[in-house]
Amino acid sequence: MVERGGATMLHVDIMDGHFVPNLTMGPPVVESIRKVTTSVLDVHLMVTDPDTYAPVFIKAGADQVSVHYEAARHLDRTLRLIQGLGAKAGVVINPGTPVSVLEDVLYLADFVLVMSVNPGFGGQKFIPNSLNKIRQLARIRAEKGLGFAIEIDGGVGRDNLESIVEAGCDWMVAGSSVFHSADPAATVKELQQLAERASGTIRV
Ligand code: ZN
Repeated sequence: MVERGGATMLHVDIMDGHFVPNLTMGPPVVESIRKVTTSVLDVHLMVTDPDTYAPVFIKAGADQVSVHYEAARHLDRTLRLIQGLGAKAGVVINPGTPVSVLEDVLYLADFVLVMSVNPGFGGQKFIPNSLNKIRQLARIRAEKGLGFAIEIDGGVGRDNLESIVEAGCDWMVAGSSVFHSADPAATVKELQQLAERASGTIRV
């Protein structure tokens, strides 16, 4: 449905029941999704042990894997591990974690994912301070001539999409606003049009 609407990236939330209270899906589900799509599979690991699980999900078909700053004990090594297996490597920060802690990995990361809700559940409200983090990241990227993409995840929908794009975000993850709408394909199309008007590119 969402591909019919124009989505070219599918974001998959993996929760382990430890790093976050919820449990979602494991590698077999990602393998199954891989078989039916050529879209970019963007796997977001909300797990306490990303070094163990990143390779497993890349093997299952992930094109890119993001790991939480708060969970990675050796973040530089974990990002290199992911890239060494042929996937793009992203780092994620929770709402309570400042952008400044990423200073020494930004040159290495392929993308940075800003959590705009506390991870663990769908359907939460967007935390407005996330826009400041996007602006900060976009500024650092320009100042240092870096190439990482900026992604946002949590509470994204038609009400805040334009301000997110204007802040400098490249990839917007929309979950509830798409899948709980009456017509997910039409909603993706509408969100993409909104984003394009705000001069960005949206992938759901
Ligand atoms: Zn996510």
